[in-house]
Amino acid sequence: MTGLRSLPAYAATAFHWVTQAMWLPGIPILTYHSIDDEGGPESIRMDCFSAQMEYLKENGFRSIPLSELRNLTTEDRSSDRLFCVTFDDGYQNLLASGVPLLWEHGFQATVFAVSNGWGELAGWERQRSSAGHRLMTEQELCEVSQAGIEIGAHTCSHPFLTRIHLESVRREIRASKDKLEQILGKRVHHFAYPYGAWDQRIRDLCAEAGFEMAFTTEQRKARGNEDPWVVPRVGVNRMPVGNRRLALNSLRACLSGTVGYYVTLRRLVRLNCTKR
Ligand SMILES: [Zn+2]
Repeated sequence: MTGLRSLPAYAATAFHWVTQAMWLPGIPILTYHSIDDEGGPESIRMDCFSAQMEYLKENGFRSIPLSELRNLTTEDRSSDRLFCVTFDDGYQNLLASGVPLLWEHGFQATVFAVSNGWGELAGWERQRSSAGHRLMTEQELCEVSQAGIEIGAHTCSHPFLTRIHLESVRREIRASKDKLEQILGKRVHHFAYPYGAWDQRIRDLCAEAGFEMAFTTEQRKARGNEDPWVVPRVGVNRMPVGNRRLALNSLRACLSGTVGYYVTLRRLVRLNCTKR
């Protein structure tokens, strides 16, 4: 039994060395959602998030704003140790500790905010689980923006854009941009597809709406030749991240560009981090 119980630990250690050996080119655009103790697939505990930020700082990684991605054309940028941080949906729990921690480490970030239901529980989350996280209020979003965090759009009501009528897609994309620009008093340049769901027509609507870039959840690093409206990101807590060791393994997999393998491995060995 001892041997079986230690299998996940051995696998994690082995994977750490594999990620270091297989460092792929490109810039990892890290995707987070909520910082809380619930342990769900879109939650990360504060101590785990803090451990990841410390790791990035201590290992000489430097965050850049999303707008800088378009200026970087070199195909292999792995030695630059650059990364981006994004938070989807715009949850209120970022304010208490996540945003201050980013500032403390000097890291830049983008919040992709849904533009309906500010200050309310996220309705699309309640459909999937018993609880929902509360979104920032309009005023909180403005404060975050004024403090230097970029705000991007993430539709009005967080639908699967590939499952609704194209005219509704157009409205969701355009209205979310207009609404955010109205309350923030500045241009909104970037968009993230809810659930990472997009197709060519949706991508074209993002470009027509005036977004400079749009982001998916394709689980790979962004390289120099990306279509600006289909830029991949990596989900740091795509698998549950329940302790610091797993948090760092997951982060290293994202930084190296091997997160797809990591998720597969985690599923194979059934690493149940929430019980460890
Ligand atoms: Zn979302």
